[in-house]
Amino acid sequence: MKKHILIVPGDGIGQEVTEVGRKVLEKIAARFGHEFTYDEALIGHAAIEATGNPLPEETLQKMKASDAVLFGAVGHPKYDNDPAAKVRPEQGLLKMRKELGLYANLRPIKLFDELLGASSIKPEILKGSDILFFRELTGDIYFGEKGRKNDGDTAYDLAEYSRFEVERIARKAFEAARTRRKKLCSVDKANVLETSRLWREVVQKIAPEYPDVEVEHQFVDAAAMMLIKDPRRFDVVVTANLFGDILTDEASQIAGSMGMLASASVGDSTGVYEPIHGSAHDITGKGIANPLASVLSAALLLDISFGLKEESQTIIDAVDSLLKDGFRTRDIADGSTPAEKILNTEAAGNELLRRI
Ligand code: NAD
Repeated sequence: MKKHILIVPGDGIGQEVTEVGRKVLEKIAARFGHEFTYDEALIGHAAIEATGNPLPEETLQKMKASDAVLFGAVGHPKYDNDPAAKVRPEQGLLKMRKELGLYANLRPIKLFDELLGASSIKPEILKGSDILFFRELTGDIYFGEKGRKNDGDTAYDLAEYSRFEVERIARKAFEAARTRRKKLCSVDKANVLETSRLWREVVQKIAPEYPDVEVEHQFVDAAAMMLIKDPRRFDVVVTANLFGDILTDEASQIAGSMGMLASASVGDSTGVYEPIHGSAHDITGKGIANPLASVLSAALLLDISFGLKEESQTIIDAVDSLLKDGFRTRDIADGSTPAEKILNTEAAGNELLRRI
């Protein structure tokens, strides 16, 4: 198969982990006889430094022209501590999602058995957890009108959803539930928010078209509690942009670490595959970032954008085998991990390549 992949490392550890993700794709192509070509492009702080724009037009055009994008992360401490900065790395991320119509963010949360001890949740509660989140990605409070009034002393962010936006993500979630355990949990705050009342109305309206899928509605506060109390009760979860952002970070604890979770953003055009973690300033440049989320994002890319299921599974199996052999990056190591089994980013990549 011939495909063109755009690598967009972004900032901080995005650069470090994406390098491993790319090497894994190269190795897969060599092993299975595919011809993948690659290009790179700037986004975030790196793009602001080079061009003044967090999403240069050249990057956007390259994204649209590629078959899939492997993305790292954006962010820099300079902006986190300067709320007044007008040009910010995250603007590049949000614009990319809007321009590419990436309205559905899929986040599989599955615990590798070997990492049962790495989570702060009790193993007997976690074992067997397997959740697929659908986070809506191009609407909600992130994209509505924002501003200040009363001389800057009052701020507002408008949350907005249209029927069409809710329906298209809900349908994707229903369809995915059909291929899994046939349970869908729609998370909202319909007791308080009008956008959530519309959300629930739309999900209830289309539910009869999927009679084989059992649907439940939960308020976000209850869902946040339930995720930790009994994660196994969830199969597919569909929710709005802000709730999904928060719940999936919480759920990362089910998978042991932020460094383990991959995501796929899909919609109208090229799919973008990225770890759920950010640019992690605290560990940038130390070479210790866990590359597995990026590598698992590459596995999602092969599966969802190219339909290469065996190649995708080969990557997941390599990750599984690395963990079974006792290797850990620092973030997923615990007191019982021998020093010689703790790998830095590059060494973890090499162990994976060897297995593929
Ligand atoms: P973060 O995800 O970057 O880091 C949170 C914690 O998890 C840190 O302690 C970090 O060291 C650890 N961590 C994250 N990924 C890891 C990995 N692969 N291996 C080992 N440890 C890992 O979130 P944050 O600290 O809240 O934000 C840092 C920057 O990232 C900010 O500028 C923020 O705006 C940005 N951010 C970007 C994205 C994105 O690009 N999609 C997402 C979240 C945050």
